[in-house]
Amino acid sequence: MLTTGKAILDVANEHSFAVPAFNISDWAMFKGIVEISEEKNAPLIVGIHPDEARHIGREMITGIIERSHNASVPVAIHWDHGATYEQILRAIQYGFTSVMIDASLKPFDENIAISKRVADSAHALGISVEAELGTIGATDGEAEEGADTIIYTDPDDAVTFVEVTGADSLAIAIGTYHGIYPAHLKPELKLDLLKEIKSRLPIPLVLHGGSGNPDDEIAEAARIGINKINISSDIKVAYHDKMREMLADGKLREPNSIQPACVEAMKVVAAHKIDLFGAAGKGSLY
Ligand SMILES: [Zn+2]
Repeated sequence: MLTTGKAILDVANEHSFAVPAFNISDWAMFKGIVEISEEKNAPLIVGIHPDEARHIGREMITGIIERSHNASVPVAIHWDHGATYEQILRAIQYGFTSVMIDASLKPFDENIAISKRVADSAHALGISVEAELGTIGATDGEAEEGADTIIYTDPDDAVTFVEVTGADSLAIAIGTYHGIYPAHLKPELKLDLLKEIKSRLPIPLVLHGGSGNPDDEIAEAARIGINKINISSDIKVAYHDKMREMLADGKLREPNSIQPACVEAMKVVAAHKIDLFGAAGKGSLY
């Protein structure tokens, strides 16, 4: 069934697991992600970035909402990295049940002001809000925006930020980058920092840039306080690597001949993430 981000994440917080937020940008990927979530009986957050929304068009959001209503597991449709107040209002009008306002590259006071404005309006409409404090890194031009260097989230600031803004969940910077890590960049999470933030701020915490980090670190983060992990690059790489392989057969022409194998390859990666985050079987908690 379709529900809000808060409804999904509060249960994850209570039971110490993380819900995958899979970014999708076409119907085959979306359909596959819902199917694997149903097969694993795992709650799902469908992440759609403004660039992805532009790519798929508003009409497809209507289809995503309809399929989510019919899903056997709870699904939230989440506006990923909203840039402005006006953009967030549009997302809510489109039918998103969860929105992120990302003003993390702005000064602290400005971030607080815009995040509070978004939370006040979204909450009046029953929509959940994720905000971000600290900056995660960016690896390449294909990845979402990020900073050149990571500014780790300060625990004192995080407490103040959530008190003032009223955000339902908070994306924190503990050492991840958007995109795929280049060979010279060793991904490493500051799990002690996560523990400290969680002990002082017991709301659902969010990890962006979760592709490419070592499995054991990610699993530990999900156990000790991260309740939503964004996965974009890893499933898209699996989908398109398989597509390149399929397209090597020049005789193939029909999308229904080419895409199913790509979706299957993507589902294998998605299933692994669901298991890693401790989300498998958790649909029955709702
Ligand atoms: Zn992100």
